[in-house]
Amino acid sequence: MNRRYRKTIIAGNWKMNKTATETKKFAEELKTMLPKAKWCDVVVCVPFVNIPAAIRAFKDMRVAIGAEDLFYEKSGAYTGEVSADMLKDLGVKYVIIGHSERRQYFGETDVTVNKKVLAALEVGLHPIICVGETLEQREMGITMELIALQTKAAFAGVPAEKARKCVIAYEPVWAIGTGKTATAEQANEVCNAIRATIRHLYGARVARSVTIQYGGSMNPANAAELLAQPDVDGGLIGGAALVPEKFTAIINAANQE
Ligand code: PEP
Repeated sequence: MNRRYRKTIIAGNWKMNKTATETKKFAEELKTMLPKAKWCDVVVCVPFVNIPAAIRAFKDMRVAIGAEDLFYEKSGAYTGEVSADMLKDLGVKYVIIGHSERRQYFGETDVTVNKKVLAALEVGLHPIICVGETLEQREMGITMELIALQTKAAFAGVPAEKARKCVIAYEPVWAIGTGKTATAEQANEVCNAIRATIRHLYGARVARSVTIQYGGSMNPANAAELLAQPDVDGGLIGGAALVPEKFTAIINAANQE
């Protein structure tokens, strides 16, 4: 973390979990646990259908609501899709783009990620752009090249003043939902390399101000060590974000002065 130059952001990714009723219950429980003063921003990214319930339930808690995806077209004949304008109109602030599960199961590519980033920024949403290598890619020794490529592709055509509004989540695919966490050193090494790519694209001032999270089995036991790394500015959290006690413990780990 480096709060002097950039925000620390703890974001939950609920994936395809919880109903609207369960969303309300989670918010009520979290309210009793959240620290009064927060030195980090807290975001909860929920399934599309739960967004109105989440906006209502987290109101007054200084918890921003995020979506888990969007479609890049403005409107039209795209059955089942949801546009950036629709999310913005509901009061959504953040949107996860390019999560590895979308890349793996739903055909997301670096090209569609870029289109979605541009669509989100156009309406003032903050994209949380996910990048990360598979175990095979790490073992082949191509992690850094791959992450640089994913990052450059995601930011194609994004001007510097909008690049500042983006969050990047480094999520090694082998660590997502597996209980295997990158070591704090591995996480910091890649987050540092992502910052170097942003520096290369936009210069030192933008690179210094961009929040880069780590995601992949972050939990109350490993959060403090990961978040203590200078280039790890928060977490994107799956499993542990579904349990108010665990999510609060991670927020507390990010809330150290
Ligand atoms: C994620 O889905 O972005 C994630 C990091 O999941 P988990 O924390 O469960 O590994």
